[in-house]
Amino acid sequence: MMLQSKTPNYADPALHTAGLFIGGEWLPGDGIPVHDPSTGKVLGEVADASVEDAMRAVDAAEAAAAGWSDTPPRQRSEILRRWFQLMTEHAEELARLISLENGKALPDARGEVAYAAEFFRWYAEEATRIAGEYRHTPSGAHKILVDHEPIGIAVLITPWNFPAAMATRKIGPALAAGCTVILKPASETPLTAYAMARLGEEAGVPPGVVNVLTTSKPSDITSRMLQDPRVRKLSFTGSTGVGRVLLAEAAKSVVSCSMELGGNAPFLVFDDADLDAALDGAMIAKMRNAGEACTAANRFIVQAGIHEAFVAGLTKRMAALKVGAGYEAETQCGPMITKNAVKKIDRLVRDAIAAGARATTGGEPLQQDGYFYPPTVLENVSHDTTIAREEIFGPVAAVYKFESEDDAVRLANDTEYGLAAYLYSRDLKRAMRVGKRLETGMLGINRGLMSDPAAPFGGVKQSGLGREGGVTGILEFMEPKYYAIEL
Ligand code: NAP
Repeated sequence: MMLQSKTPNYADPALHTAGLFIGGEWLPGDGIPVHDPSTGKVLGEVADASVEDAMRAVDAAEAAAAGWSDTPPRQRSEILRRWFQLMTEHAEELARLISLENGKALPDARGEVAYAAEFFRWYAEEATRIAGEYRHTPSGAHKILVDHEPIGIAVLITPWNFPAAMATRKIGPALAAGCTVILKPASETPLTAYAMARLGEEAGVPPGVVNVLTTSKPSDITSRMLQDPRVRKLSFTGSTGVGRVLLAEAAKSVVSCSMELGGNAPFLVFDDADLDAALDGAMIAKMRNAGEACTAANRFIVQAGIHEAFVAGLTKRMAALKVGAGYEAETQCGPMITKNAVKKIDRLVRDAIAAGARATTGGEPLQQDGYFYPPTVLENVSHDTTIAREEIFGPVAAVYKFESEDDAVRLANDTEYGLAAYLYSRDLKRAMRVGKRLETGMLGINRGLMSDPAAPFGGVKQSGLGREGGVTGILEFMEPKYYAIEL
C-alpha cells in the first residue's frame, strides 16, 4: 500500500521559490533566478547563500553528526526507505518539476525520478550490511580487525543534467554510512533539490543531517567549507575543468575526494552487429536527456561494412523525433539548458562541417523561443576536429568510419576521458577482447543504457576518481580503521 504524503504539489508555481535549508529550517532568501529553458522565461527564484550561510550549514551538519552516526543502521535504513517511498509517491510531480527547470522531455524526467529514488532504496538495503574484516597476520601471532567508520561531514556538489539522481546517488550512500551532508545543487536546477529536501524532512531525516544551499559564489563557499577541518569529504559531479580546480582546493586540507567528471563515450558498431539493436541502443545512448548526459555516445565509430546502413537508419530515427517544450506530452527532444549550450553545439557542428563533415539531418540551431537545437547526424567526421575531443552535450550524433579492430580501439581511446563506452557485435568473444583494451570505467555490450544503482558508476583517466552506486559506493563515505590485536 502506498503511503499518503502530506507534502504539497511541487509542480505548483507557488513552490518555485525556495530559501536555504539549514539545520532543518527554511531560511528565507532570493537572488538566483531559475529559468524555464523551453521558453527562456524566469520560472522562480531561490536564495543566494553567503560564506556565513555555508558555515552555518557546516555547524548544523556538525551538530547532527554524532546523533546520526550513532543512529542504528536499521533506523537509518528505514528513513532512506521512507524517502524512496515518498519520491515514488510524488514521482509525477517531481518529473514535471525537473522537466520545467531542466527542459528534459517528460519520459526522460520520469525515468530520472525512478532511477534517483532507487538510490535511496538500494542504500536503505546497504545501510544494514556494512561489513568489516577479521584476519590472522601471516605469522599467525596476531589478529587484524578492520572496521568502517563514517568519514565525517560531506560536501556534495551536483550538476544540472540529472538534478534528482546526482543528488540521491550521493545522499543515499552518505546517510547510509552515517555521514551528515551539505548539498550544493547547480544554480540552473535548484528547485528539484529543495523539493527532495522537503520529502526528506517528511521521511524523518533529522535536522542538520541533510542541508541544502544554493549560491552564486560556489568557488568562495566551497573553498571556505573545505578549509574547515570538520569537513572530511568532497563528492563532486560535474565537468572535468571544475573537478580539477576542486581537487587542487581539497588538496590544501587533504580532504578525501570522489569525482564524477566529464565523458566522451565511443559507441563502436562492428560489421557483425544486429543493425536494429545497434540503432535502438544508439538512440538511447545518444538521445536520453537530448544528449545532455555524461554517458552520452559522443562518437559513433562504425565499421566500413555496416557504416552506410547505420547512418541511414540513424538519420531516419533522429529526423523523426519531435522537438518541443520538455513538459509537452508529445516531446521526445527538449531544449538545451541555456543559450550558451546551444552556441557551443553550433560551434562544434560548424567546425566539423568546415573540416569536411556532412549533416544528413539537422545541423542548424532552431530559431524559436527557448534554447533548441535539432537532432542532428554528421557523417564523414574527421577525428581531428573539436567535436571528437569535447563533450557535445546535445542531440548531435557524429559518425566516424573504421576498418580494423585495432583502428576501432585506437580511435575509441584517443581522448583524455574514460567514463563510458558502448560496443555492438554478435561475437561476444570479440566484445570482451575489445572491451579489455578500451580505456573506460563502464562498457555497455549490446546495451545503450548502463546506469543502475546496483552497479559501480565512474570513470578512468580524466573522467574521475572513485565509484558511485553498487556495493562499493558506500565506502566512498567511510574510513577503514585497523585494530592490531594481541589476544
Ligand atoms: P559544472 O559547470 O562543472 O558544475 C557542476 C557543479 O559545480 C554545479 O553545482 C556548479 O555550480 C558547481 N561549480 C562550478 N564551479 C565551481 C567552483 N569553482 N567551485 C565549486 N563548485 C563549482 O558542470 P555542469 O555544467 O553543471 O554539468 C555538466 C558536466 O557534468 C559535464 O561535464 C558532464 O559530463 C558532467 N557530469 C558527469 C557525471 C558523472 O557521473 N561522471 C554525471 C553528470 C554530469 P553552479 O551551477 O552554481 O555554477
